[in-house]
Amino acid sequence: MSKKIFLCSICNINSGTCNEDCQFCSQSVKYSANIERYKQKPIEAILEEARSVERAGALGFCLVTSAKGLNETTLKFVCEVATAVKKEVPRLRLIACNGTATLEQLLILKESGVDAYNHNLESSREYYPQICTSHSWQERYETCENVTRSGLKLISGGIFGLGESQEDRVSMLNSLKELKPISVPINFYHHNEALPLKPSELSVDEALSLITLTRSILSESDRIMIAGGRESMFGNRQNEIFKAGANSIVIGNYLTTLGRECDRDLEMLRSLNFDIATSPQDGKK
Ligand code: SF4
Repeated sequence: MSKKIFLCSICNINSGTCNEDCQFCSQSVKYSANIERYKQKPIEAILEEARSVERAGALGFCLVTSAKGLNETTLKFVCEVATAVKKEVPRLRLIACNGTATLEQLLILKESGVDAYNHNLESSREYYPQICTSHSWQERYETCENVTRSGLKLISGGIFGLGESQEDRVSMLNSLKELKPISVPINFYHHNEALPLKPSELSVDEALSLITLTRSILSESDRIMIAGGRESMFGNRQNEIFKAGANSIVIGNYLTTLGRECDRDLEMLRSLNFDIATSPQDGKK
């Protein structure tokens, strides 16, 4: 039986308006990165994206907002979008990614049709204060615990290439293991000149070995998903991420950077003899 690859797509329903100071994030207003900024994407545009990625084979559709966490207005907007997408494109598994969230807020999202919540630890507990001072790593961890309590599926991962040590990487992966996420999004830092961090120094071979390390520590998670930075990190060696341990990718554009055309990803999967997952169970390792 051929390996089945779970495809996910992300939709930035509110962009570039965050007041936090995460040094890796071009959505922070503190760094004036040259990106599109808006409060609420029109629902019809979101539905069009949902239909289009579903046609391309995506099963996951992630509604992302840029802020530290949910407030009343954002929660209402995400619920409105979730209800509309669920009605129009019911096959999509809906993921919300809206920062720190209380148990009550997560339960409201669940009632609106959200299936899973994505909140990344981003880096290790030890290294995080060096890349973000406006909120704590602990708050991130606690939101992940709230997700599991709410009955939503937890999706949580991080970013490599932020200047962290190998010890930090192992520490983050061990913290993720404690949280038992079903899917672990792995991002590779994609440098933007407006950001204070230095460009990532990871080589392709090191990045592939980090995917393998993630797969081995998170052995109970259904999916290791390669998300932001796939194209810039791996270039023409993207096909090697699956052998390294990935069984899920983000297709289409990322939050503030362009991905490659879906057709090229589908062609890559065909050439590797992989099938596309048509149910969440299919995507399991
Ligand atoms: S809290 Fe999220 S959106 Fe805001 S700067 Fe940090 S990573 Fe970016």
